[in-house]
Amino acid sequence: MVIVMKYRCKICNSIFMDKDVSSCPFCFSPKSFIEEVDEEINEQKNIFLHAVKVSEENPGIMRDNTKCIDCGLCRDTCKNMCGLDFLEDTSRCLSCGQCVLTCPTNALKPKNSYLKVKELLKNKIGICYTSPAVRVSIGEFYGYPAGSFMQGKLIALLKKLGFKYVFDTTFGADLTIMEEATELVNRLKSNSDGPLFSSCCPAWVKYAHNECPELEPFISTCKSPIAMQGAVIEKYFLPKIKKNKEDVVTVAITPCTAKKMEIKLEGIFGTDEVITISELVEWAKMEGISFNSLEDLEYDSLFGEGSGAGVIFGASGGVCEAALRTAYHLITNKDLENIEFNDVRGLKNVKEASILIDGEEINVLVVHKIKELSKVLEKLKEREKTYHFIEVMNCEGGCVGGGGQPKTNEESALKVKEARALGLYSRDSSKKLRLSYQNPDIIKIYSEYLKYPGSDIAKEILHKCKESVKN
Ligand code: SF4
Ligand code: SF4
Ligand code: SF4
Repeated sequence: MVIVMKYRCKICNSIFMDKDVSSCPFCFSPKSFIEEVDEEINEQKNIFLHAVKVSEENPGIMRDNTKCIDCGLCRDTCKNMCGLDFLEDTSRCLSCGQCVLTCPTNALKPKNSYLKVKELLKNKIGICYTSPAVRVSIGEFYGYPAGSFMQGKLIALLKKLGFKYVFDTTFGADLTIMEEATELVNRLKSNSDGPLFSSCCPAWVKYAHNECPELEPFISTCKSPIAMQGAVIEKYFLPKIKKNKEDVVTVAITPCTAKKMEIKLEGIFGTDEVITISELVEWAKMEGISFNSLEDLEYDSLFGEGSGAGVIFGASGGVCEAALRTAYHLITNKDLENIEFNDVRGLKNVKEASILIDGEEINVLVVHKIKELSKVLEKLKEREKTYHFIEVMNCEGGCVGGGGQPKTNEESALKVKEARALGLYSRDSSKKLRLSYQNPDIIKIYSEYLKYPGSDIAKEILHKCKESVKN
């Protein structure tokens, strides 16, 4: 054991190693609240009694062992959020980054990808796409309240960092809904046994594979929004601009560390790198970019239009709500009168709602914070009701609470996630375009390239495994 100098915020009690900060990196309290503290630190690499073990190969997160004080908060978080407790079998890690959010010394971080992207941008055309949940969180790094909708400045920042094309992953979310709602409707029509589980959270998909493989056959075959977006950029957009894949670097800007794992999975293509919003801000600060003085910009066209249904993907319940809006239309050929499903919104861990479609009651369940999945499994076992669609998100609050989002202190964490979700819901309600199937860019890509949801070409590039698409 050696004694090293560290710094503590008197307001939120976080401990960190960096001396040259202008405010607390966790709660943003002014420098005057930061004091020096002497702490013992375990310098022996990899001998930690209370910390989660992080493999060098972990695609989503990394740990600087010299900063670890073996406080055990990461392991507690993993138990409380993911219901996991592993010391040796690191293959069970979901790369979800929930432990990153509670690590008080910044020993745990998203695995760095921006340094590689910065190099690649010197010789390649940069194409990036931003997830819904990051536009309501990036402002927190710059002193704006959680939930502030900062889309215009985020696009301007990405252009300033050297990306030629900045697209909206909300387009990918709309595409996911078209395919997933079609899959759901096909299941309903064929009276298939068991519910359809959502598939857009890679941490949940890995959890199912490791911890409850009996659920795997019920998980949608749809790729996630960023995986769909990457696929259509490679197959549809690049030929339009007469470029090859080698000419470009494609980057998803996400709230999520698990997406770094997802893009390496077999059958997923089109996205070269994933940069979390916390990494992006680190990069911007390194470049000395003043976020507050950036002028708002718009997304580039072609994949620049997303519906309100795609925007709410970032909050728990959003995927389910978006799928119901489109499934109703696919079955009845009409638009839903009331498209807001308040029962599946909010931070209650398990939520449910029912909707009458063409005389049949469709029941849905939503769960976030994967530890709570056991409650859903209990409900399925009880068989009091038939459930048709189940949305599962690993992180508390959904992607607004992802492991690549800004850190918060424990007391305010729930309020911050709620505010970020409200930012997404108010964007949805302020948009004219709120239904995925009415998105003109979606209509265009189906008419020009994909033909129709569930077509052979759609199955080939937008689904995980062509053979397993259920109908
Ligand atoms: S939370 Fe951070 S400092 Fe604490 S044991 Fe885990 S890695 Fe180490
Ligand atoms: S990344 Fe997620 S699953 Fe892995 S140790 Fe951290 S909290 Fe647990
Ligand atoms: S809930 Fe969202 S942010 Fe969290 S692991 Fe899943 S996809 Fe990533």
